[in-house]
Amino acid sequence: MPNTSRHDRLAAAIDARRDDLIALTQDLIRIPTVNPPGEAYLEICEYVQRRLAKSGYTTQLVRAEGTPGDSDRYPRWNLVARREGGGRGDTVHFNSHHDVVETGSGWTFDPFGAELKDGRIYGRGTCDMKGGLASSIIAAEAFAEVFPQFDGAIEISATADEETGGFGGVAYLAKQGFFTPERVQHVIIPEPLNKERICLGHRGVWWAEIETKGRIAHGSMPFLGDSAIRHMGAVIARMEDELFPALAKRTTAMPVVPPQARQSTLNINSLHGGQPEPEDGFDGFPAPVVAHSARMIIDRRYLIEESPEAVRQEMIDLLETVKSERPEFRYEVRDLWTIPPTMTAKDSPVVTAVASAISSVLGLAPEYVVSPGTYDQKHIDRIGRMHNCIAYGPGTAQGGLIPLRASADPKIHIVSAGLTYRWDNPTEAIPVRPVVRKN
Ligand SMILES: [Zn+2]
Repeated sequence: MPNTSRHDRLAAAIDARRDDLIALTQDLIRIPTVNPPGEAYLEICEYVQRRLAKSGYTTQLVRAEGTPGDSDRYPRWNLVARREGGGRGDTVHFNSHHDVVETGSGWTFDPFGAELKDGRIYGRGTCDMKGGLASSIIAAEAFAEVFPQFDGAIEISATADEETGGFGGVAYLAKQGFFTPERVQHVIIPEPLNKERICLGHRGVWWAEIETKGRIAHGSMPFLGDSAIRHMGAVIARMEDELFPALAKRTTAMPVVPPQARQSTLNINSLHGGQPEPEDGFDGFPAPVVAHSARMIIDRRYLIEESPEAVRQEMIDLLETVKSERPEFRYEVRDLWTIPPTMTAKDSPVVTAVASAISSVLGLAPEYVVSPGTYDQKHIDRIGRMHNCIAYGPGTAQGGLIPLRASADPKIHIVSAGLTYRWDNPTEAIPVRPVVRKN
């Protein structure tokens, strides 16, 4: 049974921060951390640093030097903050990425204006995931005010580059030892998944470049050459006939949402064959040549029931079959990156704590989901070796909400530090996706 007076005190402390939560979310949105290229990373890290230093956190600014995209013009800055409680205990870490994707066109609001209108905040990154970052800060501040002598420690991080793989963010920090099980025992990533959903992990991914090779010749006498594009066409035909149907039939026990993603998938990200695209402004004709090279980037998403080796081998087998049918067929496969699937066990402490808080505070049955794409949990799991990690945060990719209340079941200790939210008024301070004007 939750301790009612403790619960009420925490709920009141969070309610009292309503305006602060809105203002904090707005301030974060107004720092335009667009990635790529990685704008204003230092600015947002210093903002969060100032805020948390005032709240009793020790803070560390960490630049991920030498990681993809890091330069003196666009340094990959991260912030890690830690607040000790009054006694020994576990550390709960809230990790949010501070970067946002480009704005695109068609906005009816200033994407970095963070305008509050009719109970909604409009702006790039409101849901994904500056609302989550603000919520974790507010929840942790309220928790520490009500329970200053809590056992353990709370950490909050704002990290770079999640939208481009997280190599200059969580991956770098994990390599530096920030996410080892010795240092951190529970990790919550407040990505916008909605208030009753606990995201346990994600499918695996394998990116690779497949190149078919040919022999250049004059385009008027293609029989003297060997077309890499026609070889690539044969590869795609084989994929259409065999691979795509086979992947669609493969099902998983992972509760991936949306349900259409509960299968293996393959996307052809790009395809290029023959001579390079002409530069902008060149308006001449292309030369008549037989393509000596064609390249395809593939994005293969796979299930926990599949092994990375089998996924790769399946593609090699397909290419070998094509080779056996086409005398001059030659190919190369270059691995770009791969991340195995991950799924935190449902009986892990962070999962059971958040699940019980969702039931007691929201009165809802928690829903367990798995993400079709990867997010920073991949680095915490694989590099940090810390498997007690979930994504749980306010809002949804389709528009969402900001949490307004928290749970304080003493049995959950600080794992519940604002992790469970009561959604009292759905029209209050709701971050939404960009509003696109219909032409
Ligand atoms: Zn995100």
